[in-house]
Amino acid sequence: MADKKPAVKKHGSDAVVKRGDISKRVGVEQLRIRGVDVDRLVEMLIDAAGAEFTTYYYYTLLRMNLAGHEDYKEICEDARLEDRAHFELITPRIYELGGQLPADIRAFADRAGCPDAYLPGYSGVTQKGVEVVEQIQKGGYKAAEILEVLLEAERCAIRTWSEVCDMTFGKDPRTYDMASRILQEEIEHEAWFIELVAWERDHISRPSGHFRRGEPGEAPYSKNRGFYNP
Ligand code: ZN
Ligand code: FE
Repeated sequence: MADKKPAVKKHGSDAVVKRGDISKRVGVEQLRIRGVDVDRLVEMLIDAAGAEFTTYYYYTLLRMNLAGHEDYKEICEDARLEDRAHFELITPRIYELGGQLPADIRAFADRAGCPDAYLPGYSGVTQKGVEVVEQIQKGGYKAAEILEVLLEAERCAIRTWSEVCDMTFGKDPRTYDMASRILQEEIEHEAWFIELVAWERDHISRPSGHFRRGEPGEAPYSKNRGFYNP
């Protein structure tokens, strides 16, 4: 009994990150060891955060122009505020992984991973684009066309977060958990807008399984709140 060696504490090893070293993170090196391309992941997350942020902005305009359709406005508002919640959820993760957001919001918007969710008919800040908007605004926007823009934005978000889930599954539980929470809400958003496009454009019924959120922008997954589930 006297010659019993102290137990080896393998998780106490500082072989990869030396004691007191603040230039590296164990939380990042463990991902590299498991095969995550952390640099690529950070770039993808910045692009994805840019898409959430710009979508939040564009949904503000799209929602305003659903004037007269209180039901569509309410659902658009949930999607808008939940996309803001997605930006808020994923941004701290970028910094934890050693990345940061661009210092210039223009650079951030330009690298967003999804196309700008412009008002229908608008195609960027050009004189022609401005004229198109002026022309359309005289007659108002068609709700069906706005809903189609919203639908396609949700689809881009689903593709984005699915790819992040693929990159992190079984290797980076923290990013995976965040991405999968966001993905779940994006899948709901797509279903909502399919229901609304189907009705407004084609006058057919395509139920989404939508239940009203408890309050605008509740974000039950990405804010970790309870479901509306009576
Ligand atoms: Zn989103
Ligand atoms: Fe969304």
